[in-house]
Amino acid sequence: MMTNGDEHGGYVAGRYRDGSLSDGWTDIARCAPGTFVRYVARCACGWSGRARPATVTGAMAARQEWFLGHVMSLPLDARAAV
Ligand SMILES: [Zn+2]
Repeated sequence: MMTNGDEHGGYVAGRYRDGSLSDGWTDIARCAPGTFVRYVARCACGWSGRARPATVTGAMAARQEWFLGHVMSLPLDARAAV
């Protein structure tokens, strides 16, 4: 799990076939291929990103989206708490 202070802990969640998402303690890279149909960046604050293909590239894009699209858009004082 990536950490950014207490409120913003980002991670890549996997979407199971039934539509539910894995939690922040699930290491998607260790799950069997086919376990997930999509990867989605999520944050401990409740933010979530766009659904990505369940591939290594998709996981990287999700992590990047969490940082660039979410953390970097936070107010400066929230970022300063990192
Ligand atoms: Zn957040």
